[in-house]
Amino acid sequence: MKHCSKLLALLVCTAVLSPVSGQEEGRPNIIYIMSDDHASHAISAYNGIYKDVAPTPNIDRLAKEGMLFSNAFCTNSICGPSRAAILTGKYSHLNGFYKNEGGDPFNGNQETFPKVLQREGYTTAIIGKWHLWSEPTGFDYFKYHTLNGEQGSYWDPVYNDNGELVKEEGYATNLTGDFALDWLENKRDKSKPFMLMFQFKAPHRPWYPDRKYENLFEGMEMPYPETFNDNYATRELTAGKTMMTIENHLTHKDLKMVPPQGLSRDAFKKWERLGDKGEYISPSDTLTGMALKKWKYQRYIKDYLACIRSVDDNIGRLLKYLDESGLTEDTIIIYTADQGFYLGDHGWYDKRFMYEQSLRMPFIIRYPGKIKAGQKNGNTILNIDFAPTILDMAGVAPPSDIQGKSFVPVLMGESSKDFRNAVYYHYYEFPKWHNVQPHYGIRTDRYKLIHFYYDVDVWELYDLKTDPNEMTNSYADRDKRGLVRRLKRKLAKLQKEYGDDVSLEQMREVTRKGMIEY
Ligand code: CA
Repeated sequence: MKHCSKLLALLVCTAVLSPVSGQEEGRPNIIYIMSDDHASHAISAYNGIYKDVAPTPNIDRLAKEGMLFSNAFCTNSICGPSRAAILTGKYSHLNGFYKNEGGDPFNGNQETFPKVLQREGYTTAIIGKWHLWSEPTGFDYFKYHTLNGEQGSYWDPVYNDNGELVKEEGYATNLTGDFALDWLENKRDKSKPFMLMFQFKAPHRPWYPDRKYENLFEGMEMPYPETFNDNYATRELTAGKTMMTIENHLTHKDLKMVPPQGLSRDAFKKWERLGDKGEYISPSDTLTGMALKKWKYQRYIKDYLACIRSVDDNIGRLLKYLDESGLTEDTIIIYTADQGFYLGDHGWYDKRFMYEQSLRMPFIIRYPGKIKAGQKNGNTILNIDFAPTILDMAGVAPPSDIQGKSFVPVLMGESSKDFRNAVYYHYYEFPKWHNVQPHYGIRTDRYKLIHFYYDVDVWELYDLKTDPNEMTNSYADRDKRGLVRRLKRKLAKLQKEYGDDVSLEQMREVTRKGMIEY
């Protein structure tokens, strides 16, 4: 073993070798659970506005028995890029996966944490959502959603099962749960410790719940976020220009509206997409204005939360399996999502922006007896830190060029108020989908400074203490000039440190490559 973390040292010191096969030298099993677009404020352990109406008891159990991070952030808030950053521990400009649309497939020749674990004697698998276009490398077994732009389908999805395409019957979340349990029980090499990436496609758009949950919230009115009626004053050219509003950009398909009878297949496909570009749609002539906006929100949020109910159920199945098979004590479980999401916040659905709700990821970790139960931790951690942390917990040194750093000392309660004192962020995809201007920025404990640069030149400054909802861009305030100068210096330093100190024109080139227009 190349490197002994403090966690591993503790394990070896206290180890009674587990009766479960595969536990050598106290090496833990690892189950990395990730869903797609599950915002932390839709998990009841995070105390959001849905905690009483749409609880997540099984994810909450992980938090009760482990540690919940309230300031975990992604470095590029969109599916594929966040996944690539997690696997490699590097920013998009180094791992090469910048965008879902128009970019290159993930280069599977580069180093990833599953590859390192596999080399170090772990048996590894990925089951569920992958979304990186190239076939997974570093896994003894993979079974991932394919077709529909690598999104797969909620119903009767096609999986790539170790190189063979297989259409499965049923609901994707439950199937992914079945396949994960099947691998754990029947397919893995039980002579080795294991690392399983268990990744749900839910609750990604178009938010199709399981049939048994289609009417889960019938007759209820879900609460509205504080910023539901944001008018984007002081942010007209950025937040004000998106195509992701609840009011104007949900489609017939998103809203599960009933199509007119007798449409041809082509006409039906066209009808389903209506709403995407801001076309006016309503279920009736009389439902208009604010009542229509609220109706759309209720439809959207109920389906989104109902999809999450199935995710939580399947995590419950996994926890029960681990308990019954004696694996709980020796298995580290992580629950996270590839990024956050707007749940009507700022009047939106979707993600992409460096604003809080899509920047923040849920992150909960349980390791019985090693990580003290029931802790909430406010340290800032990033998705590029996951790989080195996981490797550290397995007692393996991370690749020397990795950009993230292990937060094992934080998990062990040994420190540290300042694991990270700032976040660097960079988003590239534009204009499809949702017309969000490319931007980079810095977030400190208190302030956020963002530069939107593609075909605008807009800086935004937020004081998260006095304006936690980020409603007022105070960049132009006279009394903020000194602060802006300091933040710009710090931002430039981070860009240099991470190797992203290139010209704006070079950044725009990434966006232009394979650009998809509306
Ligand atoms: Ca996603």
